[in-house]
Amino acid sequence: MAEFKNSGEEMKNFKGVWVFCEQRQGELQSTVLELVSEGRKLADDLGVELAGLLLGDNVEGLAKEIGAYGADKVILCDDPSLKDYTTDAYADVICDVVMEKKPEIVLIGATNIGRDLGPRCAARLHTGLTADCTHLDVDTNKYVEFLKANSTLDVDQMVAAGRIKMDDRNLKMTRPAFGGHLMATIICPRFRPQMSTVRPGVLKKGEYDEAKANAVVVEKVAVKTGDIKTQVVEVVKEAKQLVDLIGADVVVSVGRGISKDVEKGIKLAEELAEVLGGVVGGSRVAIDSGWLTADHQVGQTGKTVHPKLYIALGISGAIQHKAGMQDSECIIAVNKTEGAPIFDVADYGICGDLFKVVPMMIETIKAAKA
Ligand code: FAD
Repeated sequence: MAEFKNSGEEMKNFKGVWVFCEQRQGELQSTVLELVSEGRKLADDLGVELAGLLLGDNVEGLAKEIGAYGADKVILCDDPSLKDYTTDAYADVICDVVMEKKPEIVLIGATNIGRDLGPRCAARLHTGLTADCTHLDVDTNKYVEFLKANSTLDVDQMVAAGRIKMDDRNLKMTRPAFGGHLMATIICPRFRPQMSTVRPGVLKKGEYDEAKANAVVVEKVAVKTGDIKTQVVEVVKEAKQLVDLIGADVVVSVGRGISKDVEKGIKLAEELAEVLGGVVGGSRVAIDSGWLTADHQVGQTGKTVHPKLYIALGISGAIQHKAGMQDSECIIAVNKTEGAPIFDVADYGICGDLFKVVPMMIETIKAAKA
């Protein structure tokens, strides 16, 4: 890999929005389609092209799907050495392609792979990366609207004072900070590309468009992977099935409120989830206490979900929990404390003991289905 000196002077040479299209065993990760859909909006706002960057072995077939969600083209690096993810091979290839083609924005899913790859590439490219973003904007008008809707800041005053520049085309990367107590918007004004990892599940996937799928252009890039130091000998999949919180239409989550009889509390949540065709999630307390495994955690340090229905059982509604579920289409909260903050985001609140309320809910749903 050649030495790369990123500097402010060169910034104008960088154009276009890229999405790293993470695939595993030839399957695109769901976060890729969310990022491509969001990348389309950013590219339209900037008036530039959107490209998917796809690495792997025999993965050209995935290009259509990437196109269907809005990419104009797919930059394809297809090589047997890229079959399985390795940090050195992927970082080498990506940095080489970025240095050659100079995109102004690179988006990466904040998956385990993305969290490993993103910072490595950003450091080599001498640019900045904002990790774990939950919102992205390039159009300042839209950003101002976002701030007005999601903060208590005097946004008009900030614009008048020049603290928000209306002609600014930098990527505004918003992420929770200070334990989720405030949202910080970060820019990378002096270096390119602007890099961001984005939490899976927070951005909305667009609609599949067959015409766009057929129109996508595939640009093949020759891969130089001479100095790879690591080799994947075997991929061993975890035997147990992880819960698919992000893809579920119904999530029934439990919190400390089940503590007086954990076994019964979990059983009730499972039964309620089952009659509704959903899955069980939990607050961090439920995970830290060992009642559920980590893949069940909803919230800032867990998963972000927006199911059709989210039911919170015995969860107080701490800001870190709400960060992961408040965009659900419908929220039902069962809590015995009248002033619990979870009721502030709930569409329907039931103030009562979950051990009494949930059996009634299950019976009612079963009766309605019969
Ligand atoms: P509690 O806050 O103790 O609430 C229990 C609730 O149950 C109470 O409201 C009570 O009224 C109710 N209750 C009790 N008994 C019953 C009953 N029988 N019937 C009905 N209601 C009952 N938390 C997350 O959830 N996800 C995260 O990702 C996350 N990330 C974090 C990251 C950081 C950096 C930090 C500092 C904290 C994070 N937390 C996270 C923790 C968070 O701040 C809260 O501590 C946690 O969400 C509280 O969990 P809880 O609502 O289950 O428990």
